[in-house]
Amino acid sequence: MRLPQIVKAMIDLHVHTTFSDGTSTPEDLLAEAQSTGLEALAITDHDTFEGFSAAMSLTGRHGIELICGVELSTRLFAPEFNGQNITVHLLGYFFHQMPPADFRAWLKTIVSTRHERNCQLITHLQAKNLDLKWSDLPFPPETVSRAHIARVIVNKGYAPDRQSAFDLYLSDQALHGIERKLPSVLEGIERIRAAGGLPSLAHPGRLPFREPSRLQSFIQQLTASGLQALEVYHSDHTPAETEHFQALARDFHLLITGGSDYHGANTPEITLGRGRGNLCLEYALIEMMKRSAQGSRTLF
Ligand code: AMP
Ligand code: MN
Ligand code: MN
Ligand code: MN
Repeated sequence: MRLPQIVKAMIDLHVHTTFSDGTSTPEDLLAEAQSTGLEALAITDHDTFEGFSAAMSLTGRHGIELICGVELSTRLFAPEFNGQNITVHLLGYFFHQMPPADFRAWLKTIVSTRHERNCQLITHLQAKNLDLKWSDLPFPPETVSRAHIARVIVNKGYAPDRQSAFDLYLSDQALHGIERKLPSVLEGIERIRAAGGLPSLAHPGRLPFREPSRLQSFIQQLTASGLQALEVYHSDHTPAETEHFQALARDFHLLITGGSDYHGANTPEITLGRGRGNLCLEYALIEMMKRSAQGSRTLF
């Protein structure tokens, strides 16, 4: 009697490594992906391809298809938020080649704005009598995110948990203008497209718009500017939101992407591939992305 074949069908298109604010090294991540039964995995670290490159260079990649991705923080000027900028995350997927040198050089300028912000942030927290030093953080200043700083704040007893650390010290509101100088969302889309990538609007459920019509007009504007996909499936989306975003993707002829936004132990409630247990994404999403992506050759 033939044993039933184990069909590996699950994918995850939104994952972080230790090269940004995840806690899994590329090597660990591949092992975790294998034990989860992932067929394909996009590494989408914030502002860097180093985690992806490291994963690609590992021998014995366990038969998992690796997709080159990135998550960019961009800004949108929003009059309805007292004229302040809101942060919009964009995912970029590169199926045909490593993004060109000019795009990678541009990412380096973005990384340097993180360094400057982090220096201001640590000085600001020290002025609030928090005993924090660079040596408390396991990474160089240009890769440290607020998620890492939140951990240190909790470990030192200045806040009971991660969310309180944000509410008390690290949220945009708590930081009163200490922020990174981010590119506009339209520049982000243009740069990803110019580099041969496929841009997707990350976790629309986290955007602070209150009116559904505002989100709709925002997506319409981005689509007219070159947006190609919407991250319909995400750990934070409720079933109702997922349904709503599916309808928006259909209305605007956008591709659908999705992923767990796995950060390892930094977000222990999120599992690779499965999110909060609500995800199980099929390889067909990748096939549709590949068909729409520019060029015709897949090198990875
Ligand atoms: P950074 O890239 O260093 O500005 O850190 C951004 C990360 O901090 C985001 O990806 C979120 O994980 C987290 N974050 C930002 N604002 C908040 C907030 N108000 N509450 C909880 N987490 C937040
Ligand atoms: Mn992150
Ligand atoms: Mn994000
Ligand atoms: Mn993310």
